[in-house]
Amino acid sequence: MDHTSFTEICLHQLKMSGVHEGEKVAVLTQGNERIDYADAFMAAGQRLGAKMYHMRLPAPLPTGGWAVGVNGLADMPEAVEALKKCDMLIDCLFLLFSPEQMAIQKAGTRVLTAVEPPELLARMLPSQELKEKVEVAGEILSKAKAMRITSPHGTDVTYQLNTYPTVTEYACTDEPGRWDHWPSGFVFTGGDDDGVNGTIVVAPGDILLPQSIYVREPITYTIEQGWITDIRGGLEAEIVKSYMASFNDERGFGMSHVGWGMNRNAEWHRMVPGEFPGGMGMEPRSFYGNVMFSTGPNNELGGKNDTACHLDIPMRNCSLFLDDTPIVIDGDIVDKEISIERR
Ligand code: FE
Repeated sequence: MDHTSFTEICLHQLKMSGVHEGEKVAVLTQGNERIDYADAFMAAGQRLGAKMYHMRLPAPLPTGGWAVGVNGLADMPEAVEALKKCDMLIDCLFLLFSPEQMAIQKAGTRVLTAVEPPELLARMLPSQELKEKVEVAGEILSKAKAMRITSPHGTDVTYQLNTYPTVTEYACTDEPGRWDHWPSGFVFTGGDDDGVNGTIVVAPGDILLPQSIYVREPITYTIEQGWITDIRGGLEAEIVKSYMASFNDERGFGMSHVGWGMNRNAEWHRMVPGEFPGGMGMEPRSFYGNVMFSTGPNNELGGKNDTACHLDIPMRNCSLFLDDTPIVIDGDIVDKEISIERR
């Protein structure tokens, strides 16, 4: 994407995020990564009269893996203090799940993660409609006491919802202390620590992240009192088990966030070479009507499990009920308050 159009989409983003004259907005990058993002955001923010800063950290040492919650700010409390003083932080580094991000949000700084390729950011711009519908979905989810998910492949799992808050993601953020991720478009919460029971069958065509692969053979998870007690299937089940074992951390078998996707601009089929240049999977997480469950940490929601072993698994064709009220049926959102027309 050329510099001018990248600046234009960042301008749209900053307007949707309520950036205005006199606000202090910092862009965080590391090494040589996403310098162009910082330039585009700074040019856009200046046009809105904001005070723009770029904090660039040194390149990280090679670690050979995706360790959630570990980042270059961990040893730099002065840098964290500076970011706490901003109105908004644009995180082009990926602070998610880190204590540093939580501290920055707690200080009232709103945080937007932007790490996906510019082409994907452009395709999935935030919109007022998405924001409003996701906010309503968040209200509905936050009132529910139980979520049941079923599928034709044999999924039948129930999450008791008496503990954790609901989180909305609609790709922009204009409230103090609120975090969002561009692109996105979904809602989630977490089940009670001992309150998830049943079977989840990840079916052919469902997606494993961070592996970024489509499953070809079903993976059957058995979940008892909030913990995965069995994983069975073919090749992809073996990949999941091997990946999880590599963390050597039993807490990876806990249940993480669960919810559904709402973005009409996100397409299930696009996670293929050529259309998915270096993406980390926000499009497959967001496609309309997917039901996504996750395994591992729940500290993002305020829980105690901060394991680095985390999988997100968007599934097609599921049905999702909140206290027996149908929200998603066979992969389509049926609740009239939150459904969005196809364009
Ligand atoms: Fe996740």
